[in-house]
Amino acid sequence: MNPVTYLRAADADQALHHAGDGARIIAGGTNLLDLMKEDVMRPAALVDINGLALDGVEQTGNGGLLLGATGRNADTAYHPLVREQYPLLTAAILAGASPQIRNMASNGGNLLQRTRCHYFYDVATPCNKRQPGSGCAAIGGLTRQHAILGASGHCIAVHPSDMCVALAALEAVVHVRSARGPRQIAFADFHRLPEDQPHIDTTLAEDELITHIELPPAAQFAGHSSYLKLRDRASYAFALVSVGAMLDLDHNGKVRAARIALGGVAHKPWRVPAAEQLLVGHAPTADSFAHVASTLLFGALGQGQNDFKIALARRAVVRALELAAAGTYDNTGSERDGSD
Ligand code: SF4
Repeated sequence: MNPVTYLRAADADQALHHAGDGARIIAGGTNLLDLMKEDVMRPAALVDINGLALDGVEQTGNGGLLLGATGRNADTAYHPLVREQYPLLTAAILAGASPQIRNMASNGGNLLQRTRCHYFYDVATPCNKRQPGSGCAAIGGLTRQHAILGASGHCIAVHPSDMCVALAALEAVVHVRSARGPRQIAFADFHRLPEDQPHIDTTLAEDELITHIELPPAAQFAGHSSYLKLRDRASYAFALVSVGAMLDLDHNGKVRAARIALGGVAHKPWRVPAAEQLLVGHAPTADSFAHVASTLLFGALGQGQNDFKIALARRAVVRALELAAAGTYDNTGSERDGSD
């Protein structure tokens, strides 16, 4: 048994005082506690931030929203302002996990959840992410779930979040605090590719605390967005491939702007802004979507068992854009606790 000290922080200063030095921040704990039970992570202390006033949803002066870090995923998905202005985020959150987990998981924790690579959780196997320098059991092993973009010879894991795919497309900004003061991190810079340091998932420092996630105004996309998740089971499964797509169409039906992010394919949500630009000024047709999909998937490389993901991702991008062009579909249903 590994002894763990538990501290309940009364405010952000107290949480920051105890952060770092082997201590881990905990909010929902839906991933961290699993990792501790599997002996993958062994924090010396848990700093509980559920008592901090960070669970709200506020409007910003420029018409965007500020999501508190300890707000629950379900509360965020069903918040009226999120549903109305950011339907892609609602759809992505509701495509993830189970209702019970979404009720518990926090917004900040969703960004920090770790890969579901089987070998990362199996402490009997080598894994550079769990133990730097030990090797990667996935390379040459079971790779059905693994990356086709942005992988390295040190790690081929994918980021598991659905919510983060939407946040990437929405160009969210992560607000963090440390003893050095506050700073903001563009979402595209928050998660890392593995390169030769796969044990470092994000650009968040050990002594930093996520306080909020800012959503810039995105009303122009609200009428034409879709989140398409393809997985091995209909619910409670991570994406083989997912696509968050948003279109801003002018009065002639031509594309004024497009945002597309992929999940399940890389160590971070995958975006290629140059591919999105290919749609601007054109009618939203299957041919133009196919061209965008090829550009988005440029350089994709399978590991054998996951080669199918390349064709699957191409088709998923086209389908997600077709759905977005047809109009946003409300997947919230009438029941708050409906199955995903
Ligand atoms: Fe570990 Fe990454 Fe290799 Fe999985 S893919 S075994 S997480 S190093």
